[in-house]
Amino acid sequence: MKSNAVIAIHGGAGTILRASMAPEVEAQYLDALSRILAAGQRILAVGGSALDAVEEAVRLLEDCPFFNAGHGAVFTSAGTHELDASIMDGRTLEAGAVCCVKRVRNPVLAARRVLEKSEHVLFTGEGAEAFAAAHGLEFVDPGYFHTDARYRQWQLARGQARAMLDHDGATLEAQAAAKASEESLPHEPIDPNRKYGTVGAVALDAQGHLAAATSTGGITNKQVGRVGDAPLIGAGCYADDATCAVSTTGSGEMFMRMVAAYDVAAQMKYRGVSLSEAATNVVMEQLPRIDGRGGLIAVDAQGNVVLPFNTEGMYRGYARVGEAPVASIYA
Ligand code: ASP
Repeated sequence: MKSNAVIAIHGGAGTILRASMAPEVEAQYLDALSRILAAGQRILAVGGSALDAVEEAVRLLEDCPFFNAGHGAVFTSAGTHELDASIMDGRTLEAGAVCCVKRVRNPVLAARRVLEKSEHVLFTGEGAEAFAAAHGLEFVDPGYFHTDARYRQWQLARGQARAMLDHDGATLEAQAAAKASEESLPHEPIDPNRKYGTVGAVALDAQGHLAAATSTGGITNKQVGRVGDAPLIGAGCYADDATCAVSTTGSGEMFMRMVAAYDVAAQMKYRGVSLSEAATNVVMEQLPRIDGRGGLIAVDAQGNVVLPFNTEGMYRGYARVGEAPVASIYA
């Protein structure tokens, strides 16, 4: 019997302009996405669970400096890093999440421990770190999260005295560099509120179970203590075998106000619409009502995959068991 098992991942959405990205950088992003998809695919191919596949994919995305989660996380207004992550099992509706952690190397692993070992769903800050320590997770010096690219984005955001989505920061940085070297880049207006970085994964396993996971450093120059949608079950992450698994990226405040991830599942459940119709409605109609920008990835129990976004680009891809991974960036 042919398996419908499939994994999809994202690495954030935003003003990702082809003109701002050197071809070799683009190739590096696509390689990273394909490599991480292949790792999740291998788990599914041997009958592994969707939960294990999304955890592993997000762990690898956290370790990759290209993406705003784990090692590549953005800076807060205080020059620190505060990381958020969540994971949900569509089979049992169990969920785990952490927010504002500063020294846990892989927040998604902490979220998974919460799912498995705690009666609670969400731990914050010191309590989250104490829980992670008690469950043997790896801790790192805060300097581990420093990357020069994110530091430069933070300096630009500070200069403009605002918080900025990750990939908008990268575009701004590329344009600033080009201006400095008098290269000619097209004069694209840059809206600093249009760069979203977060990572996520959704999967369907061979047993027909769904899972989702999301992890982020938040938004560049965010106020200390600010928490976005990523660690909130229903906003940035949701999974229910009866409907779908969803992971989001974008302007977190709007995704929270729209309860975006759950709204996809709810529309399928109560309106009886397809995954594609529900996800398109949330991203293209509901979120824009409040200027919510970004996108999501989602999979249903039949293995349908959708990756809609309302920004210029979203780092994304999917891989079906037995087929080559497909990764893309622009619309
Ligand atoms: N949604 C994330 C947050 O608001 C940011 C992002 O996806 O870029 O923290």
